[in-house]
Amino acid sequence: MHETSIALEILKTSETVLAQHGGSRILRVKVAVGELSAVEPELLRYAWEAVTVGGPAEGSRLEVDFLPARQFCPTCGPVARAPGAWVPLCLSCGAPLLVEGGNELDLVQVEFEVDGEKP
Ligand SMILES: [Zn+2]
Repeated sequence: MHETSIALEILKTSETVLAQHGGSRILRVKVAVGELSAVEPELLRYAWEAVTVGGPAEGSRLEVDFLPARQFCPTCGPVARAPGAWVPLCLSCGAPLLVEGGNELDLVQVEFEVDGEKP
């Protein structure tokens, strides 16, 4: 399951942030995941619970911001669509649509505790 290796990667980065700021415990980590990054937010949260056991991030919350990919027509501009619905051709002119974004996999925010004090 590749969500586990992604969760480990997020954990490694979060622990680096924690160490840089002299924090003692990670409370909340926020990541942005694109629609096309092939990451299941639900699986990622399960993986997070598993990889954080026994470490400074145990019991912390992983928040996943799901970013949809944007589709647009080279002539008509952005195309409105329902999340998850994929439109291959422009409904107005029939041109093949271009895709923008959706591949994000970013660590957005790490919230932590310093020596038992709430931030
Ligand atoms: Zn068009």
